[in-house]
Amino acid sequence: MTDTEQIKTFVSKYYHYLGINKQQEITRLLFEIAKRERIDYIKVTESLPKPPARFSRIKDYLLERRYPSLTKSRQGIRPSFFDITIDPELKVDFTLKPPIQPKNIFIEESVAHTEMVKRVTTHFPESNVEIIKTYKEHVGKRRFGIVDYNKRRENFYLVREDYDFFKKCPCSSNSVFCGYFVVNLGSGCPYECSYCVLQDYINSPGIILPANIEDFFAAFKNLGRDIRCGSCELTDSLAFDHITGYSPLIVEFFRHYPKTLYELKTKSDNIDLLTSVPGARNIIVSWSLNPQKIVETVEHFTAPLAQRLEAAQRCTACGYRVAFHFDPIIYYQGWEADYEALVDMAFHAVDGENVAWVSLGTLRMTPRLKKIIENRFPDNTILDEEFLAGHDGKLRYPKETRRSIYKNMTSWIRKRCKNVRIYLCMEEKSMRLE
Ligand code: SF4
Repeated sequence: MTDTEQIKTFVSKYYHYLGINKQQEITRLLFEIAKRERIDYIKVTESLPKPPARFSRIKDYLLERRYPSLTKSRQGIRPSFFDITIDPELKVDFTLKPPIQPKNIFIEESVAHTEMVKRVTTHFPESNVEIIKTYKEHVGKRRFGIVDYNKRRENFYLVREDYDFFKKCPCSSNSVFCGYFVVNLGSGCPYECSYCVLQDYINSPGIILPANIEDFFAAFKNLGRDIRCGSCELTDSLAFDHITGYSPLIVEFFRHYPKTLYELKTKSDNIDLLTSVPGARNIIVSWSLNPQKIVETVEHFTAPLAQRLEAAQRCTACGYRVAFHFDPIIYYQGWEADYEALVDMAFHAVDGENVAWVSLGTLRMTPRLKKIIENRFPDNTILDEEFLAGHDGKLRYPKETRRSIYKNMTSWIRKRCKNVRIYLCMEEKSMRLE
């Protein structure tokens, strides 16, 4: 029996006189307290109000223990007490480390003749190759769950993108729109960041890579205006670059549109192709940065911090500008020293003049994503902090915590670089910087 089942059984016996929803709330709080305090749930039950205690008394006790600082500051706690079920089958297998080696490559017949398809199939001579009519027809109306998501690296789909070339970044409602357009150059990522939204978002049995990049360029010409854009909404912009070979084509195309900013955002150090052509100042290669201890425990399979920064250095030497995303910032005891050192390392590696912008954002998730993280990364510690449901229903650290994080980060960045543009990502309008 898993821990969660044991807790459920305990609660249904001990508090048998309470309704099912109340039992669910108690179960979740017991689970989260035991996990947060790294003790067996039985230890937590020792100080629970005894039956026939009223539900409000039991809940007050549990809330105070689960949310000590929020209770102290008398902030309204509105957590989601959804059912807790941990299926061990859904846990990420950390032995499945890249290098990427798909078992199957499915190719839409309309792109079978393209250079990109030739490059990908040559790169993986051992993969089974199958020509399909279309991706849509191949997968039909099936829904794909976490088991499929865990196996996504086994299947590559090389497709023709017909519609979604450039679209406005889908900020949460009431969030500050940062004027960004997303380029849909792939869906699915080989890495395993515990907080990744893709694990909740993607409904596909594999990695999808458009093979018709020239149509993206044509769509850009049709837009008829300069924009700020990047190919990082549904994938890591460079993780597959050695396979698709796209970055030199992107650089060569966009260097002719110097007022358009094209961002390649990554947690990799996969920049060999990118640095094989002369850089362009309007191509921004950006890294999402976290302290090395977070990289190791949360951003599984990604490049170590030192390698990301070394890659950033190589890119600036080659003529590109870079950007840094301190996002998501993970709050924990002693975060200040680690993040100040991180800011130091970033601006030591790259001169501020070569940094196009910096973004800041703190960890956030929908309740559904939280449930997925619990199942895929049961040993995580990122869920143990105190979260509140925010303006868009997502769980975030309390406002005061976020405000203090942004204030500190901004002052550390300003110390090293007076003029760089800093903006907030996925934050509510009332959260302003400086
Ligand atoms: S690198 Fe980005 S897209 Fe890939 S798993 Fe991490 S958060 Fe998700």
